[in-house]
Amino acid sequence: MIKVISDVIDDIVLAVEKAFPQVDAELYWYYPKEGEDAKGKAILDDNVILVSFEVPIGKLPDIIAHEAAHLVEPDDIEHGEAFDTAYDKIFDEYVKMFGASEE
Ligand SMILES: [Zn+2]
Repeated sequence: MIKVISDVIDDIVLAVEKAFPQVDAELYWYYPKEGEDAKGKAILDDNVILVSFEVPIGKLPDIIAHEAAHLVEPDDIEHGEAFDTAYDKIFDEYVKMFGASEE
């Protein structure tokens, strides 16, 4: 048996929870359609985050933080200041807890 000690998904989910405890969402994986560029989606009305199976594991924190920031700031779909602030707060928590960098 292999015991997973550090789970990249659990870690970023924990950072979201710490930054924005009010976020109550479900995360699903999906296969993007052919030619579709999106790596993740936030379905605001349903509090759902979709993450493409094609996202490399090292990019999952960024994608999940990005979509969670959309849930936090649903009116800022164009990635403005409110979105950036929410995203940065999540990533700051992530770095503080796990010492990871955005690269
Ligand atoms: Zn976005």
